[in-house]
Amino acid sequence: MDSNRYARHVVLPEVGEEGQSKLNERSVAVFGLGALGSSITDALTRTGVGELKLVDRDFVEISNLNHQILYDEDDLGKPKAEVAAERVKEINSDVDVKGHVLDIDPNNAEELVKNVDLVMDGADNMELRYLVNDACVKKEIPWIYTAVLATYGMTMNVFPGEGPCLRCLIPEKPPRGSMETCESAGILFTLPRIMGNLASTEAAKFLMGKDTREELLTFDIWDHDLELTKVDRREDCETCVNGDFEFLETEEDTITELCGRGSVQITPSKKTELDLDKLEKRFDHAERKGESLLKIYVGEYTLNTFKDGRAIIDGTEEPKKARSLYSRYIGH
Ligand SMILES: [Zn+2]
Repeated sequence: MDSNRYARHVVLPEVGEEGQSKLNERSVAVFGLGALGSSITDALTRTGVGELKLVDRDFVEISNLNHQILYDEDDLGKPKAEVAAERVKEINSDVDVKGHVLDIDPNNAEELVKNVDLVMDGADNMELRYLVNDACVKKEIPWIYTAVLATYGMTMNVFPGEGPCLRCLIPEKPPRGSMETCESAGILFTLPRIMGNLASTEAAKFLMGKDTREELLTFDIWDHDLELTKVDRREDCETCVNGDFEFLETEEDTITELCGRGSVQITPSKKTELDLDKLEKRFDHAERKGESLLKIYVGEYTLNTFKDGRAIIDGTEEPKKARSLYSRYIGH
């Protein structure tokens, strides 16, 4: 390791030789490698965190390049986790990095948070955050919640056993479709970097064993309106008090082979309602059949997708193949 790399950091009284060497020994997982996850990964790579576990299920798209700092035009269509891991090696070869191209779900969440010192939230949806909260509280792994929308962001450190968790702050997950998303409300190009760097600063303080912020930080970067709010641990918190980890429940989806039809039906375990209008717009070859059915044509397969989340997949009798087509084109 070339000690010159961290010279400007070590000279800070807040860091010093000791702080820097702690950073170099610690491991962090980043869940989600969109705008926030990219900024966090870049910051932690440059500061010399010893080990990074990067997890994302998506591919790089043109609309990502506006604010996701790890990717460029050559990366279009490639899995983000793979591109990000390569980029980390180019920036700082001291970092031991691994990219995982996968969907974080109730079956793998606990395994993914194991053996890391800290988990960083780069998620773009609340479902994943509640899952991460359950997994981290259960395994007693600290994590840092961060969310961005339009010109506004928020971040809070979650240290299981010490302070509030995500469900102390927001007890019930907002219903699907009830919240604005980055697609509908947009995102100011500098916001993920600012919030990602604020969260990464707390990450570094924690990894060096320094005192960290206890409050929720909210920041509207357009109006320079920054606030710190004390969040209490809720006496009746389902997750960190009652130990009810409902988002980790791992019921498998039901897969039924439809004999003689060359089709397989997938019924999701969790009750869900698909927005077929939205889904239809994602495909070049899709055909609406009434209110609650959308036929999606993908090569030799037809995904007959129902509003209740069910899909009958024509063109295969293999449950595994059907399952992977479902996850890939319809999601969870
Ligand atoms: Zn709680």
